[in-house]
Amino acid sequence: MLPLKVEVPPNPILRVQHDISRWDIRLIPEGLHIYVHRPGYTHHGIYIGDGKVIHFVGPKAGPTRACKKCGFSRNTGHGVVETCLECFLDGGSLCRYNYNVPRVRLLITFHTMCPNCTTTERLESGREIVATAKEKLKEGFGKYNLLSNNCEHFATFCSTGTAFCQQVKYTAELAAFPVLPRPVGLLMFYRDLI
Ligand SMILES: [Zn+2]
Repeated sequence: MLPLKVEVPPNPILRVQHDISRWDIRLIPEGLHIYVHRPGYTHHGIYIGDGKVIHFVGPKAGPTRACKKCGFSRNTGHGVVETCLECFLDGGSLCRYNYNVPRVRLLITFHTMCPNCTTTERLESGREIVATAKEKLKEGFGKYNLLSNNCEHFATFCSTGTAFCQQVKYTAELAAFPVLPRPVGLLMFYRDLI
């Protein structure tokens, strides 16, 4: 057996931690809601095990040439897709979305306005979450809309049964408070980078 030099996942629910790029891929639980930073937004998906991710992408997403590993390209389609983890990350760093975070923990760790932390309960069974993602892979998830039906709506729907998107909500809230200094606003949005 290979020696494990990488970080072992801590309590997946309670600890406020986003960066899991150093986790051993074999230890990532199936059904985990993962995300990656892209310029100006975050892209979300459901890890289904075996190095694969199901995610909801808009038109023109994906590499121009088909991926040698999973075949994904911007020409093979959009909507709900199953790709390899590398295609999902597209060179970015693997992050975890946190559910069931106690409100008090969000306050004491300054994650109050973090778009990737929520007090909403996640379904306990990762297998059930994967089953929903696979079901939507067949059925589709409706028309992609950046504001009202995006990758985060898809991942939160699979994880909780209710679709929601905190990055849209918090971006709107920040826009509603223009007096907030811009660096502070950005810090609130990208808190998980620090
Ligand atoms: Zn791929």
